[in-house]
Amino acid sequence: MKIKGFTLDLPVPENTVPLVFDSPHSGTEFPDDFSSPVSSEKLLTAWDAFVEDLWAPAVSQGASLLKAHFPRVYIDPNRAPDDVDARDVDGTLPFTCKPTVYSERGMGLIRKFALPGIPMYETPLTAKQIMDRIDTYYTPYHTALTERLETLHQTFGSVWHIDCHSMKSKGNAMNIDNGQPRPDIVLGDGDGTTCEEGFIAVIEDSFRSKGYSVSRNVPYKGGYLIRHYAAPTRNRHSMQIEINRAVYMDEQAFKPNNHYQTFKQDLSDLTKELCAYIRDAIDPSLSTPIK
Ligand SMILES: [Zn+2]
Repeated sequence: MKIKGFTLDLPVPENTVPLVFDSPHSGTEFPDDFSSPVSSEKLLTAWDAFVEDLWAPAVSQGASLLKAHFPRVYIDPNRAPDDVDARDVDGTLPFTCKPTVYSERGMGLIRKFALPGIPMYETPLTAKQIMDRIDTYYTPYHTALTERLETLHQTFGSVWHIDCHSMKSKGNAMNIDNGQPRPDIVLGDGDGTTCEEGFIAVIEDSFRSKGYSVSRNVPYKGGYLIRHYAAPTRNRHSMQIEINRAVYMDEQAFKPNNHYQTFKQDLSDLTKELCAYIRDAIDPSLSTPIK
């Protein structure tokens, strides 16, 4: 049985602002063809737990929210569709593989290692298995995001996109900051290349005003999703928010902690500020209700 790959939650038309959140790594539904010797506990460490729930109130404030249902260890929407090492494929894919540093670390489109030294699969996936994952889950997710951003951009003349993630409180050997403790929040805008400054400043100020530690682009500058969709000179702004899991959950038990509801409210307050910023920024003559 194939699962539905994503949900796109939309605001009511008269309240819509051109702001889209996407949560590519919070899915937990494994399609039936998934099989791995790795324990579910280890697989869960790659899960951006509860991120889609933390941002859910954004929809009632006027934003759209896209969330993947499939896990990122099955196929990763935050990678280029050709970020595959051909040596990890049984057979030949119908495109030229262009493995990046993500694939080199075992975290390409199709994950090679669950954790350092722990392979995801006993034998390489076949080319057909990989193409099925691309066609059934990866591409529809990107098509939904593309279409929503396009609709909003056409209607309002500008669109803002936030790619939502969470991170372990400390990186491991597959991460670029192995062993280092991380701040509460990491904002990524490709070192200032994917998003206008005013928008990211609202986010940074909001988190800091509530007492959270925030860094920009260290250790994460933002992944494929924001680089693929950003075009600031054409009023398409994308940035990434990484939330330290220790802020809102017990990382060992995979359960919300005592701060969860407060943090969710803080994100809701932040979204309200962002929607106000966007309503001020867009041409008022364009802010007509859309479907
Ligand atoms: Zn993530």
